[in-house]
Amino acid sequence: MSQADVDSGPLPGAPTPTPAPALFDPIGTGTAIQRRIGVKTSRDEPLGRFTTMRVGGPADLFAIVHNLHELRAIVRFARARSIRLTVLGRGSDVVIADAGIRGLVVQNRAEGSTIDGELYIVESGQAMARAATETQKAGLTGLEFGLAIPGTVGGAVWANAGAHDGDVAGILEWADVLLADGTEARLPAAELGFRYRDSRLKQQPAEVVLQAAFRLSPADPPTIAIRLDEIKRWRREHQPLGIPSAGSTFRNPDGDSAGRLIDDLGLKGRTRGGATVSEKHANFIVNDRKGSASDVRGLVDEVAAAVLAATGIELEPEVVFLGDWAMGATEPAVESNAAGDADDREPGR
Ligand SMILES: Cc1cc2nc3c(=O)[nH]c(=O)nc-3n(C[C@H](O)[C@H](O)[C@H](O)COP(=O)(O)OP(=O)(O)OC[C@H]3O[C@@H](n4cnc5c(N)ncnc54)[C@H](O)[C@@H]3O)c2cc1C
Repeated sequence: MSQADVDSGPLPGAPTPTPAPALFDPIGTGTAIQRRIGVKTSRDEPLGRFTTMRVGGPADLFAIVHNLHELRAIVRFARARSIRLTVLGRGSDVVIADAGIRGLVVQNRAEGSTIDGELYIVESGQAMARAATETQKAGLTGLEFGLAIPGTVGGAVWANAGAHDGDVAGILEWADVLLADGTEARLPAAELGFRYRDSRLKQQPAEVVLQAAFRLSPADPPTIAIRLDEIKRWRREHQPLGIPSAGSTFRNPDGDSAGRLIDDLGLKGRTRGGATVSEKHANFIVNDRKGSASDVRGLVDEVAAAVLAATGIELEPEVVFLGDWAMGATEPAVESNAAGDADDREPGR
């Protein structure tokens, strides 16, 4: 037995040392993804432009997938090599840290769809707004609320997104999900754990929605178009559209509205760096395009602290803070995936 063998063995009774995490090799990984899956990758890709808040630093490695074959393959590739993977839809519910996201970030643009009778089957990278207009043209009603949601079908299933008296839980028939063990399952809505802005996907971050089927009802396309116009008008009147934001910042607390609580404290217009509490909707934080992720995060913390001090109510962020916050100015908040029981008190959301 060599000295090296002796030195590397644990002493009897000593705790087993945790192995050091394997170093991520973006160059080799990018080359392997290109060769095996045929998907181009880029290194140190700034992520802000892939989000609606328009903040956030770089991904070590970034790729865009355009179909389900590529999405499955890249997720399985990352899993097999224990590579940290983040799947993004349209980035409309996230704030990415200024230091960016370590590992591989994949933007999902698998956008195919088919109509089978009253069932609309759509890949998870399709925009919800596009899903709303596609089904309107096909004379199917039920997905009009999707026009209000600037995210993808996958992100909407993850969030049980909803607005204008509709939500994903109300119309989803099934979703095909890539499970953490690499297998795929067609999960009926009952197995997706839907609650107010919550689903099992929030509890199981390793699961990825591949496609979804929505059960809709036949209706006259011009009548559905009128409903879409009403939704568009309502959003324009009540929300700060066209300015970077991530939608509602906080979940509505049980029996109340986060926007009302913030508004009552006179916090509209409160600013931190480039981030401001919207004058139009107190539960939106907007970014003047020069704001940083830590401006946004700092303002979220400030508003939550003010509401807690004044009312004793602890607001939980609705937006998700992704990436390497430990390197930023503020401490990482505990990412809240806990299910809330609050009703949706703002009619638009
Ligand atoms: C102006 C504005 C208005 C909004 N209004 C509403 C509203 O009325 N109602 C509402 O509910 N929301 C609203 N939102 C929030 C947001 O649009 C929704 O939560 C949307 O469903 C997020 O989808 P996304 O594709 O952008 O997800 P992203 O922000 O890209 O991702 C959010 C989370 O979902 C995960 N995810 C994304 N795709 C998948 C997938 N295929 N499988 C598994 N996990 C996945 C990501 O990993 C991440 O953790 C609004 C946002 C904005 C900016």
